[in-house]
Amino acid sequence: CGIVGYAGRSGFIDGASATRNDALKVILEGLRRLEYRGYDSAGIAVVAEGRIASRKKSGKLANLLAVLEDSPLPAAVTGIGHTRWATHGGPTDQNAHPHLADGGRLALIHNGIIENFAELKADLLHKGHLFISETDTEVAAVLLADTYRDVLAAGGAASDALSVAMQRTCQRLEGAFTLLAVHADQPDSVVAARRNSPLVVGLGDGENFLGSDVSGFIDYTRRAVELGQDQIVTITSETVDITDFYGAPAVGKEYHVDWDA
Ligand code: GLU
Repeated sequence: CGIVGYAGRSGFIDGASATRNDALKVILEGLRRLEYRGYDSAGIAVVAEGRIASRKKSGKLANLLAVLEDSPLPAAVTGIGHTRWATHGGPTDQNAHPHLADGGRLALIHNGIIENFAELKADLLHKGHLFISETDTEVAAVLLADTYRDVLAAGGAASDALSVAMQRTCQRLEGAFTLLAVHADQPDSVVAARRNSPLVVGLGDGENFLGSDVSGFIDYTRRAVELGQDQIVTITSETVDITDFYGAPAVGKEYHVDWDA
């Protein structure tokens, strides 16, 4: 029900070795700001050391914080976070987002409802994929991973395989969705999509943000771009690239958020 994404920069800032912001800190602050939307579970995934690390828990954010305390995530500059309002599958740890696919190398979070998830799931089961949750969301995660492998197998460039796979996945999804995904092969990027569900990009200096609304990143930047209907965005710390579901480039209009948070 609340979504936050972050792509920051590691390396040197003002001559000193440092990261501008830690993904975990930015994402947890964003999720706390989005609490007003209501939720029953929370989860987070970061890309660190060439792999995805993820923690999720039913109940309040405090429950997720307790899990993170027991089992800390590695420092990272790329990640996604979610608070869930269960629609398909009860509010359990297993059904909480992120959902992992591609052997744990891809993580995806989702707001909304995938209406044709049952047909898609039947197709994917037929192809030999396994599911561990009852959610419509895991179907989008597995479909994205399956499509990602197809894009690479067809000779697609690794650098944009995830956004191309997201385009093709969204062409097949019906319903309302904001999706955010990260892949261990592309550790600097977060790829996101929206249809009938909101998604806003926050523009920083050496870092960029995604949120289901501006409160997801209001502590960091007031420069925002609202994504149009049926668009995909890929953020890194330095870039924001928007296309439609068929890869045609689109331009986002920047605006200034002037309300007091
Ligand atoms: N339909 C998804 C689920 O039940 C996402 C719900 C949400 O928007 O939080 O897991």
